[in-house]
Amino acid sequence: MLEDMLNYAEQLRERPVWQPIPQSIHDRFQENLPQQGTELALLHQRFLTEIMPYSIGNAHPGFMGWVQGGGTPVGMVAEMLAAGLNANVGGREQVPISVEKQILRWMRELFQFPETANGLFVTGTSLANLIAVLIARTTHLGVQARRDGIAHGDKKLTAYTSAGAHGSVSQAMDLAGFGTAALRPIPMNAAYQLDLDKLRAAIQTDKAAGFEPFLIIGSAGTVDVGAIDDLTALANIAQAENCWFHVDGAYGALGMLSPQIAPRLCGIERASSIAFDFHKWGQVPYDAGYILVRDGAQQLATFSAPAHYLKRETRGMAAGSPWPCDLGPDLSRGFRALKTWFTIATFGAEKLGQIINNTCELAQYLKQRVEQEPQLELLAPVNLNIVCFRYVGTSKLSASDLNNLNTELVIRLQESGVVAPSSTLIQHQFAIRAAIVNHRTTRLDMDNLINTTLLLGGELGIAATHP
Ligand SMILES: *Cc1c(COP(=O)(O)O)cnc(C)c1O
Repeated sequence: MLEDMLNYAEQLRERPVWQPIPQSIHDRFQENLPQQGTELALLHQRFLTEIMPYSIGNAHPGFMGWVQGGGTPVGMVAEMLAAGLNANVGGREQVPISVEKQILRWMRELFQFPETANGLFVTGTSLANLIAVLIARTTHLGVQARRDGIAHGDKKLTAYTSAGAHGSVSQAMDLAGFGTAALRPIPMNAAYQLDLDKLRAAIQTDKAAGFEPFLIIGSAGTVDVGAIDDLTALANIAQAENCWFHVDGAYGALGMLSPQIAPRLCGIERASSIAFDFHKWGQVPYDAGYILVRDGAQQLATFSAPAHYLKRETRGMAAGSPWPCDLGPDLSRGFRALKTWFTIATFGAEKLGQIINNTCELAQYLKQRVEQEPQLELLAPVNLNIVCFRYVGTSKLSASDLNNLNTELVIRLQESGVVAPSSTLIQHQFAIRAAIVNHRTTRLDMDNLINTTLLLGGELGIAATHP
């Protein structure tokens, strides 16, 4: 099995990135509950023929959809060790928790956070954003908000983020009980950053109307175009307005590992909390999200809850308090820190930073190639590792025809098995969106994307002008 997966990683280029899944394969997973066991070798065979060929393909160098990491064999083997140990790192006296604390120490160092900072592995940035909103709530209203809820009292709290922020930010406001309407989406400037004047104006309008601003969420790498908000300016506004300053740095925050990108994240070191994923630019296998909180005491105050069966001691297995379960909503938790520790320790921060910078250089190369082709049009500035463009062809097509053509084109690119971008809307224009995250991706994949887009776009363009 180990050999299968090592071969898989080695021979990725010979496979399609993704392929349409036959109904017969879907049907194979419609069986009744097995009363008797099946031989492992048979199940393994089923894995090889029915599961492995039909995953989404984010390990493949031609994968450019959404923002997904490619993982490494080192991470894979570490995951196997973690599963073998079957550690539950919710708490108690065990070195797996020291490994998680080692990662905390590294992250404090990377983001220049103080000794008092704390942090926690979670599934991903979606949950990390929710945790940040909850800590911001408890800090603003006091711990009694945990008992009384946010509706208690007459405060009408509001939060602020860029209109380009990820959907999980608004979802966090929903799940935390504020409702999505309490989050003010602030329009972006020409560089797709949160417009600071509009933020200041929105805060003043809200305060005049009796609202109480409590949270500002900056983006370090927006999901559509990879824009980084002016984090220093946001930190200043948050400080002046007595707001929690959270940064959604899902993939962008680890740009701190690259000397070329780190200066653009200036101000992130002043955040109250940062959410990010090791499973994106960090190349750690899924899932490995993280929340880093400047004031660890606030994180503890938000989540710790005494329970008799979780009684702490100073010796024995129930020592080592506070436990990770005091810092977030999970009690039982897997050992995500191990694959992250192996990945960072094996490659080193410098190498990981080079990989991150390389994906940005590939995006610049792709941008140049798009600009050199008259049949292609660049739709957004290329800030980091994301390129948004579309096929326009040689004959004049209407706005809606262009949107229809590119919608179909993205599907055909995915079905080609050669490259797999995803899509987004940039000012009502349907865009082919290529996000370069994977360490295996090279210029060859950029050339493949351009060539396949021109080929398939040409076919669709002819069909559109001669229906
Ligand atoms: C991916 C992403 C998220 C969500 O992270 P998950 O790990 O998928 O939960 C949030 N914000 C941004 C900017 C992202 O790119």
